Amino acid sequence: MPRLFCIRCGARLHRLREAGRARRVPGCPRCAWIDWNNPAPTASVLVLRRGRVLLVRRAVAPARGAWDVPGGFIERGETAERAALREVREELGADVRIERLIGTFPDVYGPERRPSINIYFLGRLKRDRALRPRDDVSGFGWFPLDAVPRGLAFSNTRAALQRLKRDLGAR
Ligand SMILES: [Zn+2]
Repeated sequence: MPRLFCIRCGARLHRLREAGRARRVPGCPRCAWIDWNNPAPTASVLVLRRGRVLLVRRAVAPARGAWDVPGGFIERGETAERAALREVREELGADVRIERLIGTFPDVYGPERRPSINIYFLGRLKRDRALRPRDDVSGFGWFPLDAVPRGLAFSNTRAALQRLKRDLGAR
C-alpha cells in the first residue's frame, strides 16, 4: 500500500521531481524525505537431489502450513549466499553447496504487502544425511520439478521453479 504521510515529520507526501531524477518519487515537501519503498532482499535455495526439489512446510505466519523453500530475509552485513546457507542450516540442520544463481524475483510479503526481492540459488546437499526440520519449518518433502504441489506460500517461488525447470530443460 502506498504511504500517505512522511515518517519523519508527518506532512502529506507528494510526487516530487528532484534535480537530476528522471521520474517523480513520493517525497515530503516539508523535510525532503523520500519514500523509496525499496524491496527487502531474501535468499533461498532450490536444493536438487535426483531430479527432485526440496520443499519445506511453513510452521509460522504468513502462509502457515503452506509449502515453501528453505530461505529467508538477508540480515545486515550478510551476503545473499551466506544468508541462504544459514537459512538451510537453521531450518533443516543441513549444509548445502551452492552451485549457481538461478535468478532474482520481485514479490510482496505479508499482509502489509511489503515489497521483496527474492534471490534464488541452485544447491545440493553436502552429505546425504537425514534432514531435521526445526526453527520455522514443520516438515519437508522432495518433489519432481513438474509435480510441485499447488498453493506454494509465495508466488516468487513458483517463478523461480519455472525458471529452473526451463534452464534444466534447455540443456
Ligand atoms: Zn517530512
